[in-house]
Amino acid sequence: MKGKDLKPHIGIFGRRNLGKSSLINLLSGQDVAIVSEQAGTTTDPVKKSVEIFGIGPAILVDTAGIDDHGDLGAKRVERTKQVLPTLDAALVVMAHNSFDTEEIELIEQLNNFSVPYVILHQKSDLEELQTETLKKIREVTEAPVIETNTIDLAMRNKIIEALKPVIPTTAFVKPLLLEGLIKPKDVVLLVTPIDLAAPEGRMILPQVMALRDVLDHDAICVTVKETELEDFLKTGIRPALVITDSQAFGLVSQIVPKDIPLTGFSIVFARFKGDFANFMKGTVKLSHLNDGDKILILESCTHQVTCDDIGRVKLPHWIREFSKKNVEFDVVSGNAPLPQDLSQYALVLQCGGCMVTRKQIINRLKMATDKGVAVTNYGMAIAYLHGIFDRVTAPFAHINE
Ligand code: SF4
Repeated sequence: MKGKDLKPHIGIFGRRNLGKSSLINLLSGQDVAIVSEQAGTTTDPVKKSVEIFGIGPAILVDTAGIDDHGDLGAKRVERTKQVLPTLDAALVVMAHNSFDTEEIELIEQLNNFSVPYVILHQKSDLEELQTETLKKIREVTEAPVIETNTIDLAMRNKIIEALKPVIPTTAFVKPLLLEGLIKPKDVVLLVTPIDLAAPEGRMILPQVMALRDVLDHDAICVTVKETELEDFLKTGIRPALVITDSQAFGLVSQIVPKDIPLTGFSIVFARFKGDFANFMKGTVKLSHLNDGDKILILESCTHQVTCDDIGRVKLPHWIREFSKKNVEFDVVSGNAPLPQDLSQYALVLQCGGCMVTRKQIINRLKMATDKGVAVTNYGMAIAYLHGIFDRVTAPFAHINE
């Protein structure tokens, strides 16, 4: 394990007017959240980068009060709930010894998404936490509880020190992408088509990350377009592993001899950023689609959509062609909320998720898997649709997840 390029997302939750916005200002050392004496000042979640000693950069997400009411208030509470799947950890803010239905429901929701948390009894300068309240909290959770206020600047370190042990290391320590797949001095061949969907003048993130990872393994990286693949193989240099863009799976699998391990960037990312075992199971749903079935495409960022787009154009076309069924597609991009009724979908198709953390992807997909909906990712689906699923997942068979 090495690397530190992920930013854990830490949500701040609690009732209105408990100083959540002051807390975010204290932790970030800046006035980023609007602070006022009027309850309900925060509407949409506010994000701010902070540096946590020993962890590195993190994103604090300030949310509206969990006790907001009225039509607008209900919408704000809904927005707050939508943040939950995107979090790696949380601060549950309470004060005045009030620990009731709102806090208990919030804790249930955090548990549901496996989001670890610390409870802050705020405004400790005005009222101390009572033994009775702590007893009530302990009936619900064993999470750390600390007394805090936003007047004493020393509280910043106190909160951070309490928070550090609960943030899962997977939220900020990056495992090597190709761990267990390659070894030092191996030649690794990356096949990266430059098509209409390729960004102008640069490589896409999964390709850059794979290249860097090969170098981190002290291995040798060769990168070609699919049009030069045969030329490279004619040199007689035998790659230990070929990783291709999944869109070129069909062609590349024909060119690369069967005894050379082949996989795809999206397959590598399925292990790195997703639930590999669930994706393996969910992919076969593609063989059992019916007319009128709906598939939900999840793109983890709002990228520029081209006429050649993989999620919106190519995958729907390949799936309809493969299944010979009239399948419908919905697309959700970035942090946009998922449809309320996920059970209407036969399958959820997740992108490679290069811009988000593994926990964010797993939390988001959990809402579908909880409803019994099959999930997979682009790379596995494309491999399956092109008849090479077994081949491109084989390099992972020996790895004990
Ligand atoms: S996060 Fe998903 S949609 Fe965005 S660039 Fe990465 S793979 Fe594509």
